[in-house]
Amino acid sequence: MKRRKLLKSLSLAPLAGGLLGGMLPLESCVSAPSKAPAGTKVDYFKELGVTKVINASATMTFLSGSLMRPEVMEAINSTAHDFANMHELQDKIGAKMAEMLHCEAAMVTSGAACALVLGTAASITGMDSKKRKQLPNLPGPRPEVIMQKSHRYVFDQAVTTTGAKIVEVEGPQEMEQAINENTVMALFFNAAVNWFGIKDSVNHEEFVAICKRNNVPSFIDAAADVPPVENLFKYQKIGFDLVTFSGGKMIMGPQSAGLLYGRKDLIEAAKLNHSPYEAPIGRPMKVNKEEMFGMYAALKSYLERDHEKEWQDWLDRIERIRTIVGTVPSVIGETHVSPGPANALPSLHLWWDLNKVKIQPKDVNAALKEGTPSIVAGVGKKGDKQVLNIGVALLRADQVDVVADRVKEILQSATA
Ligand SMILES: *Cc1c(COP(=O)(O)O)cnc(C)c1O
Repeated sequence: MKRRKLLKSLSLAPLAGGLLGGMLPLESCVSAPSKAPAGTKVDYFKELGVTKVINASATMTFLSGSLMRPEVMEAINSTAHDFANMHELQDKIGAKMAEMLHCEAAMVTSGAACALVLGTAASITGMDSKKRKQLPNLPGPRPEVIMQKSHRYVFDQAVTTTGAKIVEVEGPQEMEQAINENTVMALFFNAAVNWFGIKDSVNHEEFVAICKRNNVPSFIDAAADVPPVENLFKYQKIGFDLVTFSGGKMIMGPQSAGLLYGRKDLIEAAKLNHSPYEAPIGRPMKVNKEEMFGMYAALKSYLERDHEKEWQDWLDRIERIRTIVGTVPSVIGETHVSPGPANALPSLHLWWDLNKVKIQPKDVNAALKEGTPSIVAGVGKKGDKQVLNIGVALLRADQVDVVADRVKEILQSATA
């Protein structure tokens, strides 16, 4: 039924007036429930006294991830007015995303942490509905997931959530020897190299080869590992069976969404362990309809974006801030590019002569945070010198000068 027709029939029906009386005006019930009614603009930050933060750092979960782009908001808003069958929605979005990501199958999860739970659960249960019901308390020996000892990290609790235990190995030989009939999966933490400054004891190719030889599903967590965009394709090409990326990091989708993709049989098993089924292990990790559409729109937008231009924009922002802050005597700014694979972004390192500008970088960082608006930056090291680190990739365009002016103001007021 067309909307106008529906409105008309509702207004004629005697019941409708009773049902809707005292509620919002009819128009706002039927149209755009996700938008504030035209002409009113509620500032919920203000109403609740929540501090608005400018993110001059990187994507961080506690700082609400990233800002969704307009096309993502459009996908969320425009799909909020109709129901959908969630199985169909997940299947159709998954099929399309698999095409986009050059892999067999894909799904939307509630973040990369959920993908770790579902990927592990899928590797344990396959299509077995009894096992699905028993998780995380399968009878018998606990399922084993192999990880390099140097890759152990906070997020591997998502793996043990399924009841699996983690078996630590060091080097290809130990990995091969650790595989037994209880082994269900092997997990590779892609950013261990830059989180922990280690060298992988088993490299990507060896890891995949050992898994394939022993028929063990391989899973790689690359949650924060774009840019570069090529990383979205890299790991399935190497041969990993499952890959996860966060939706709410630099892909800039909904914070509580993520991607799990790879082998079709495993993705199908992962879906069975997820909402909308009533009670499997992934049911509490539901993704709503709007965020599914939002995740799809974010991925599409990310893949279609001009990444070179985006990178250049970031460099231009750095130049702009450097120019403004550089007017304070002795201040030096240098572009720093984090090597990745996680958060491989350019940022601005700033330092100065502490005899002239009498404030430590960490104290500037604190002053930025305490100020209005609150600006979250960071401190880093250059040799044995502390530097102020200003990230630019998550700034709104109108915040670049705000950050620059504020840093300049703090440095100026500390200048002798
Ligand atoms: C952020 C992150 C996660 C968790 O991702 P969510 O999308 O927030 O669930 C997992 N692993 C790594 C390496 C991460 O950086």
